[in-house]
Amino acid sequence: MSPTDQDHHDIIVVGARVAGAATALLLARQGLDVLLLDREPPGLDTLSTHALMRGAVVQLARWGLLEELIALGTPPVEHVVFRYGDDRTSVDLRDRAGPLYAPRREVLDPLLVEAARAAGATVHHATTVERVLRDPISGRVTGVVTRPTSGARGWDRELYARHVIGADGRTSKIARGVDAVVQHRGTASGACIYRHVAELPTSGYEWIYRPGLGAGMIPTNGGRTCVWVGAPTARFLRERHLGIDEVFDRLLAEAAPEVAERLRWLPRGRPWGYPGHPSVVREPWGPGWALVGDAGAYRDPITAHGITDALRDAELLADAITAIHRDEAPEAVALRAFHNTRDRLGMPIVSATDRIASYDWDLSTLHPNLLELSEAMQVEARFLRQLASSAVNAA
Ligand SMILES: Cc1cc2nc3c(=O)[nH]c(=O)nc-3n(C[C@H](O)[C@H](O)[C@H](O)COP(=O)(O)OP(=O)(O)OC[C@H]3O[C@@H](n4cnc5c(N)ncnc54)[C@H](O)[C@@H]3O)c2cc1C
Repeated sequence: MSPTDQDHHDIIVVGARVAGAATALLLARQGLDVLLLDREPPGLDTLSTHALMRGAVVQLARWGLLEELIALGTPPVEHVVFRYGDDRTSVDLRDRAGPLYAPRREVLDPLLVEAARAAGATVHHATTVERVLRDPISGRVTGVVTRPTSGARGWDRELYARHVIGADGRTSKIARGVDAVVQHRGTASGACIYRHVAELPTSGYEWIYRPGLGAGMIPTNGGRTCVWVGAPTARFLRERHLGIDEVFDRLLAEAAPEVAERLRWLPRGRPWGYPGHPSVVREPWGPGWALVGDAGAYRDPITAHGITDALRDAELLADAITAIHRDEAPEAVALRAFHNTRDRLGMPIVSATDRIASYDWDLSTLHPNLLELSEAMQVEARFLRQLASSAVNAA
């Protein structure tokens, strides 16, 4: 096959959800030729309780997308209630940095994809990346081989780019294809089951902790509340033969009996279950490639920080790649700086998450971990607020 001009791009981004779509958006706003690929059709839901932390809201506001998200019916989260056993404390966000939001992924991900498209990125859904292409002599990554997701063999296509970005999630094919080194591997993980419930008003996020259990309520689009329960992976695996509905009800009755009671009579959506996986953080760059989002750094969902990580690192990476393409910095210098900043901001969150996801705590030992997490998130949000990327308002 001889490549045509159309087969060459500045950047190919693999994975069109929060990490990939945001990275493509910011690169396209810089005038770069970006191809964004995803194996799924557009607009599908995905596993996620979709709560945004402060850093994510800061990013969406800086990129000019928060108003649209609100216009799409995403309700403000004005309070955060923490319940430790039977104790309860409430934080009023209206007195602080303002509301948070928890958009359904069917809302947030397409919003980012459409913003990337509007900024000039080419977007192809239903296109599976099969493998990375490398220069046979230098080993540098030069592109990817794709095929239509529903297509037969023989439809393979070679696409070339100066940089290939893997935003293809925890099990990233790009990370495996480039032999990305794992720099941190957690040992513990928690399982999570959640469902969307109608007619369950809450004033905001509720995070509920009891030894061996977590739970929460997250208000979202369509007047629904996402209700989740968590427990160590080992317990979930022991009990899942009971059926996911039964495990959800049991865990919720133990973690928050009054919520379980309220839920009993309400219209409830299907349960989504996730057995859990220990954290995996990879070195996120090499010659011709980079990783962003869960592909580069996956942590347990119990701290609801994956989307925030993705939106933070999308901009750090987009700035690095832009500097390289404008000859403002050598590749290794720019991508090492991206790596260092990702780790400086992100690793404290991964460490605290690992400890919380272990469920190896009682309520007194849980507190220092939550405090550490909260401090790391404040540092992150402060950093993002002062970030002076030229891509931000170039819509
Ligand atoms: C149960 C659960 C609850 C969670 N709750 C929260 C929460 O409340 N708040 C929060 O911030 N985070 C939460 N997370 C984490 C969050 O969902 C992830 O961190 C986030 O989805 C990562 O985004 P991403 O873009 O990196 O990857 P993904 O969302 O995994 O997207 C990767 C994309 O790549 C595509 N892809 C993969 N392979 C290929 C291929 N070979 N070719 C083409 N395309 C490919 C996939 O189709 C997919 O669309 C939760 C996670 C789980 C499992």
